[in-house]
Amino acid sequence: LLQLSVPLNFIGFVYREIRQGLTDIEQMFDLLEVKAEVKDAPDAAELRIGQGAISFKDVHFSYDPARPILKGISFEVPAGKTVAVVGPSGAGKSTLSRLLYRFYDIQSGAITVDGQDIRTVTQKSLRTAIGMVPQDTVLFNDTVAYNIRYGRTSASDGEVFAAAEVAQIAHFIEMLPEGFETKVGERGLKLSGGEKQRVAIARTILKAPPILILDEATSALDTTTEREIQTALDVVSKNRTTLVIAHRLSTVISADEIIVLKSGEIAERGTHAVLLEKSGLYASMWNRQREATQAEEHLKQVRESD
Ligand code: ADP
Ligand code: MG
Repeated sequence: LLQLSVPLNFIGFVYREIRQGLTDIEQMFDLLEVKAEVKDAPDAAELRIGQGAISFKDVHFSYDPARPILKGISFEVPAGKTVAVVGPSGAGKSTLSRLLYRFYDIQSGAITVDGQDIRTVTQKSLRTAIGMVPQDTVLFNDTVAYNIRYGRTSASDGEVFAAAEVAQIAHFIEMLPEGFETKVGERGLKLSGGEKQRVAIARTILKAPPILILDEATSALDTTTEREIQTALDVVSKNRTTLVIAHRLSTVISADEIIVLKSGEIAERGTHAVLLEKSGLYASMWNRQREATQAEEHLKQVRESD
């Protein structure tokens, strides 16, 4: 009985995670269409970027006036620190990252970077300061090298290779039919989600921005891939101001602060230890995820003993 019930629980978990992935793809296409809406202020200045301290002050936002999405969100990501945002699907987590990148303007409140309201600076200077590693990276229909070098077009072949190494993808690329010159994207070689994400990480390593936004993949990556991605992400986020929409336990546990978002409001906040102690929403989410991870390991053991 035990052997059967545990894997079924795990399948339910995977199914929910896959559905979340699909909605994120849909939302990304929405996002591409909306990009043009936000305009620079006529007197917009260049962002004066230091270490990239981020502040959200009483932020209210809705895509559609009839349906508020964020209802007064306040938090800070001090320079060089990592804040993780967790919470149920639809809570508004990805919306926070889109607002920081200024794909949309907020209805009230303020978002500042190093004390400057992001509505008062050029979008170009803001986006130069931010590296975004999305959940679903869309690659250009071009070579792997082109896709990585996009992070900094002046980078040499050696720098592109070094970035790929740090992102734990160099070895994989070298095994491709034409190595770094292999064409990828929809009309080229299709890479898996984890491979695409590592290409995006390599791109971000070349860009070397002071601020990092990560939307961690939820899909069931195998343990080796997950570990490789985690290693790559640890390197990029070190000493960078990082806002991460977190799904991996390792990220959540080591974050300087965890924000638990629910229906556009902060339900709980604190460090991992403090939140576990509370036995609230975070504690139940965490325990559920840990059970799923244990179930996955159990499943593997059963398979291996066959
Ligand atoms: P999360 O990342 O926490 O799953 P999102 O921030 O993506 O949630 O979305 C929060 C809410 O906003 C959801 O109800 C979603 O359906 C809605 N939403 C997201 N993008 C758009 C959009 N472009 N237009 C209208 N509603 C949207
Ligand atoms: Mg999301």
